[in-house]
Amino acid sequence: MPDSASIAPIAREADGRPALWVCNRCGWVYDPSLGDPLGDIPPGVPFEHLHDGWICPNCGAEQDYFFH
Ligand SMILES: [Zn+2]
Repeated sequence: MPDSASIAPIAREADGRPALWVCNRCGWVYDPSLGDPLGDIPPGVPFEHLHDGWICPNCGAEQDYFFH
């Protein structure tokens, strides 16, 4: 089964867009509408759907460091 089959609840802004997530270590912002070109993440991928190995492209922090 592909990873996308494991659906996690997606945090959303009041207007329904997937929420921005901020790295608690360096302040880098993950914008789902932009994805992460450095991490090979295409636009439109919610933070919750990033693969387990994804880390902050700016400082290398793991996903546990991100908040929204
Ligand atoms: Zn970071």
